[in-house]
Amino acid sequence: MRVTLLGTGDTTGTPTVGCDCDTCRAARDRGVQRSRFSVHVANDRTGESLLVDFSPDFRQQFLTHDVDVPDAGVVSHIHFDHLDGLGNAYRVVDDDLPVYAADETDPVTGESVADTVRSKYDYLDRVTVRDATPHRAERVCGLDVTLVPVDHPPLVCYGVVVEDPVTGAKLSLTGDTSYDVPEESRAALADPDLLLADAIVPASLCEKHPLGGSHHDADGVPRTFGTKHMTREGALSLADDLDAARARLVHVAHFYPADEAFDDPIAVDGETYDL
Ligand SMILES: [Zn+2]
Ligand SMILES: [Zn+2]
Ligand SMILES: [Zn+2]
Repeated sequence: MRVTLLGTGDTTGTPTVGCDCDTCRAARDRGVQRSRFSVHVANDRTGESLLVDFSPDFRQQFLTHDVDVPDAGVVSHIHFDHLDGLGNAYRVVDDDLPVYAADETDPVTGESVADTVRSKYDYLDRVTVRDATPHRAERVCGLDVTLVPVDHPPLVCYGVVVEDPVTGAKLSLTGDTSYDVPEESRAALADPDLLLADAIVPASLCEKHPLGGSHHDADGVPRTFGTKHMTREGALSLADDLDAARARLVHVAHFYPADEAFDDPIAVDGETYDL
């Protein structure tokens, strides 16, 4: 499978609109972007494409990068930066776009992610929402796709495992999550050829968060920024825990200091990986 990182930024992206910080300026100087989150997975055996999350930057992403229009999609959770690009499917996708989302009821919204996507995009007759039960693989675009619960309070959110049943290649995405990923989900995400891990800011920025950091390591470094996202250190720690052959850090904010923001393994839009 060929994995293209279409969007590697957090909800404001880098550069951020109206921002003149050193990091946003450095991104403009380098001609790189971290647009809102989305990952394209092409199955080179079947010629089909799966899109993980529908970025509000969908149109620009598909105009910029050499990828096919998706044949199916997966939605990790209902936040704007992961879902609200789905409207772009209108008159762009062929006949029908199956979109897989979790079927568990979120106690906060009283509906599942699948229910919310269904009601919000009810007017799009080319989108068919398919209920997916967490931890149960669905065969999508010739790949085995599994949603696994992660920790992104207050909403439910899911990591995604994509495996090629023929080649054995494995891609794991953490989704938006704290370091507190449940054991059963860690087992499902483990041993990927590529891990894409939420790493919104470096741990040093936790002191600027009203809730600080949490899930500290043995040296007192916070692996979670506030309650919702991993720090860079948390994401690297999780990559270690999961024995990832390779990890790229995604969902990255412009708050990284400019002299760290473009260091390995922090991703930028347009990276491709053949697994
Ligand atoms: Zn900025
Ligand atoms: Zn989110
Ligand atoms: Zn997000």
